[in-house]
Amino acid sequence: MKLPINPDQVKGFLAPEEGEALFNAAAARAPHGPCLEIGGYCGKSALYIGTACAATNELHFSIDHHRGSEENQPGWEYFDETLWDEAAGAIDTLPIFRSNMRKAGLEGTVIPIVGRSIDIAQRWGTPLSFLFIDGGHTMEHALNDYRGWMPHIMPNGLVAIHDVFPDPNDGGRPPYEIYQRALASDLYVEEAAIKSLRILRRL
Ligand code: MG
Repeated sequence: MKLPINPDQVKGFLAPEEGEALFNAAAARAPHGPCLEIGGYCGKSALYIGTACAATNELHFSIDHHRGSEENQPGWEYFDETLWDEAAGAIDTLPIFRSNMRKAGLEGTVIPIVGRSIDIAQRWGTPLSFLFIDGGHTMEHALNDYRGWMPHIMPNGLVAIHDVFPDPNDGGRPPYEIYQRALASDLYVEEAAIKSLRILRRL
């Protein structure tokens, strides 16, 4: 795996091994159709997935309202004041996401879609070869992403879910709950587990 820029320069919550797993999944699947992620933040996962897509001239859609998840808000654990937009009175990660994709030469490959995942999912129609779920971690958001996006996975497609913690002491449960739900549906089998990343294959 050769990335166009150092991922350490991009803010985010993805371990290097997890990033490499995303790259490998996207590299395997992008020849079959576009990739999509929920939760673009500053572009760290898009750097890995987009680099794999660029090699096969496929697109990676990155969905985010860019106003930050619950845990990114002021007073919360992962608030970063450098991402605060004074005029908007809100987080804004879109400028830094865009800047990172430009530096990586991925502006033609990684297509940001700025809005709420559920609104876009309801109007989406293109089968996806690879989906990465790393959006809001409340049960409501995780379930919306599960119900809204899983029907768009093509047979043999891959789904990666981040922040899956089997032990509740390690973190919140909703990503783990939708991972369990996918396995229980008998439509998915587990393909890999890397730190808190789980990769499932659609049968
Ligand atoms: Mg995450």
